[in-house]
Amino acid sequence: MQVFNFSAGPAVLPKEVLQRAADEMLDWHGSGMSVMEMSHRGPEFIAIADKAEADLRRLLGIGDDYEVLFLQGGAVGENAFVPMNLLGDRKVIDFVNTGEWSKKSIKEAKKYAQVNVAASGEDKRFTYVPARDTWKLSPDAAYVHVCTNETIGGVEYHWTPDVGVVPLVADMSSHILSRPIDVSKYGVIYAGAQKNAGPAGLTIVIVRKALLDRALPITPSAFHWKEQAEADSMLNTPPTYSVYIAGLVFEWLLAQGGLKGIEQRNVAKAKLLYDYLDGSSGFYFNPVRKEDRSRMNIPFKLRDESLDGAFVKGAQARGLLQLKGHRSVGGMRASIYNAMPIEGVQALVDYMREFERSNG
Ligand SMILES: *Cc1c(COP(=O)(O)O)cnc(C)c1O
Repeated sequence: MQVFNFSAGPAVLPKEVLQRAADEMLDWHGSGMSVMEMSHRGPEFIAIADKAEADLRRLLGIGDDYEVLFLQGGAVGENAFVPMNLLGDRKVIDFVNTGEWSKKSIKEAKKYAQVNVAASGEDKRFTYVPARDTWKLSPDAAYVHVCTNETIGGVEYHWTPDVGVVPLVADMSSHILSRPIDVSKYGVIYAGAQKNAGPAGLTIVIVRKALLDRALPITPSAFHWKEQAEADSMLNTPPTYSVYIAGLVFEWLLAQGGLKGIEQRNVAKAKLLYDYLDGSSGFYFNPVRKEDRSRMNIPFKLRDESLDGAFVKGAQARGLLQLKGHRSVGGMRASIYNAMPIEGVQALVDYMREFERSNG
């Protein structure tokens, strides 16, 4: 049976990428080795890592004034490593709180710094991005932290905040590579790979070189951006197989027309599902303000929550997998990352229509 995987992460990967990895599993390019078995310092793996970085730079248009790091520790790790690497002699970090992942970043940062929540969407249960002119930024902040796509609440920035000379730091874990962005507007971009870029284990950090002199002395070497930049992300063993798969995903994205090409498809996929939700006259609903809705993670509820179990069970029977919402918010969530084909979204909408007809 054909299945469509709506998991929020680790998540669906392009079939072509998985097939290629399968073909190359036992013998990568005549090396006689699997990528998993290679020394990270050997010429084969160095070529793989260099190509992955070059392709990522091409996709995102990353300038030479930025370092690209392939690290471990995940975005949750970066919640600690960002303050360690960026505080310098400053005391305050500004945060915009748009939901569950912002809250986690704030909680972690409080261990290292004073936190100022410059704006929050909590007053409306995190269903919107607070407008820039409502943010109460501190003049002396080390940086301003935003989560540009809230994976659980389904809230996405469709604009780039201007915060003046203070560096803007963004957790882009769940929508990196889903659309073109202007990297030069950010001091730091970080993302765990397992949502939209590859397998778990790889953490991507893109950092403006001019910010590399601010690390606290206690910063662990494996997570010290400057030390890692000087060592080409090989101060410790990088997550080699994850870097390899992410590299195949970057190649795949370039073949799809790059980020402009994939964005068009992502817009069409999201529109298909949101239009259906909004037209279901309340049987299903998505609570997020229209202009802030995520293209990647679409949470929705059934008006009658007692039908939740039957909905998930029926979906599973049709090969529509992992639709149960995050435990903190309940309901359903469809994550429709780059690798989800529009046929998957159409199959979901067809099922939802039928379910509404027999239960509405
Ligand atoms: C999944 C996710 C994280 C957590 O990433 P880990 O790799 O588990 O550390 C952090 N932020 C956002 C926005 C996420 O979607």
